[in-house]
Amino acid sequence: MRTAGLYIHIPFCRSKCFYCDFCSYAGMEELHADYVQALLAEAANESGSWGETLFDTVYIGGGTPTQLALDLLLNLWESLPTRLPIAAEAEVTIEANPGTVGRTTLSVLRSAGVNRLSLGVQSLNEQELRLLGRVHTVDEARAAIEAARQAGFDNLNLDLIFGLPGQSLAEWHRSLEQALALAPEHLSLYALLIEEGTPLAEHIAQGRLSPPDDDLAADMYELAQDLLEAAGYRHYEISNWARSSSDDRGHRAPALACQHNLKYWRNEPYLGLGVAAHSYDGQHRCANLQEPRLYIERIARGLSVRASCLHLMEEDRLAETMMLGLRLIEGIDRNEFAYRFGHELEELYGPTIRKLGGQGLLEVDEVGIRLTRRGRLLGNRVFAEFLP
Ligand code: SF4
Repeated sequence: MRTAGLYIHIPFCRSKCFYCDFCSYAGMEELHADYVQALLAEAANESGSWGETLFDTVYIGGGTPTQLALDLLLNLWESLPTRLPIAAEAEVTIEANPGTVGRTTLSVLRSAGVNRLSLGVQSLNEQELRLLGRVHTVDEARAAIEAARQAGFDNLNLDLIFGLPGQSLAEWHRSLEQALALAPEHLSLYALLIEEGTPLAEHIAQGRLSPPDDDLAADMYELAQDLLEAAGYRHYEISNWARSSSDDRGHRAPALACQHNLKYWRNEPYLGLGVAAHSYDGQHRCANLQEPRLYIERIARGLSVRASCLHLMEEDRLAETMMLGLRLIEGIDRNEFAYRFGHELEELYGPTIRKLGGQGLLEVDEVGIRLTRRGRLLGNRVFAEFLP
């Protein structure tokens, strides 16, 4: 039986953060119950095409999944296996934001089989949280982490953002040390992107905040790589680190890596349910429509909720495999590539690989190719070279 990942998008948030352009909506509480029913109906609709697939990772993301009432979340999670085959030992992640979860919710989720928690901490500095428009405080972030531990979560990710307007290298250093002192199993560190149309972009355009400084953000990234490595974390994807453990031996990615996200980077199949969710079955890349009301309505009328579906040609699958795979620190394995596509890496990309190697952006050896430390800072330049 083939395996795949299952992603479920919950597009609701308490309020909209100033930098956010994700598919998420504040308010809309009146839709929550119908949305969960629609998700379950979409899962049942997909069982025809995906019923023979075993889902060995589940990721409930958002938005803020814990914005849903606990009984709705539980109903969703407990009803899913009657629609789609979910492996008993699946990695099951839920995203949560501090201020939206307490110990009771987390204990119930943990007992129900959710075994990985990703907390949107973003910063451990009060002023930075306000600048980002986050609803929680530093104390609430710490309380959520403590509640997660008490609830029995032993696979915890913290998200942090760097490169904030006005943030100094010393402040980022302090934030990283504080985060490390909390001993999470996993850290995701993202450079702040200023998305057009967000309040943050407007504040910068009005001169109320300074624009991001790319050189400083690069220094922050370098610092993170050094500090996390020294603290015993393995860098396994451009923005992701997992604590090293004895189970890592013999595996290219650390055992505590997010197994669901590894599927994206290894270009393996996944099914996405809910608004704005994407799916990839190995041949087609599809995206769902973005509007929750329309999604609920169309599901109720038995209509498709796809906004787009693209049949990928061989050259598209190759390009995606290269761009996604190079995000991983392990890079692209020669043998796996040849097995999957029937061609050697150099046969298809020889001149590009030699050029990027010569520029010090790619490391090339008998196992495969991967970004160098410098290449990680210039990832987009490298990825663009593999576009068809
Ligand atoms: S919590 Fe996340 S999804 Fe929701 S508004 Fe903030 S950044 Fe966007």
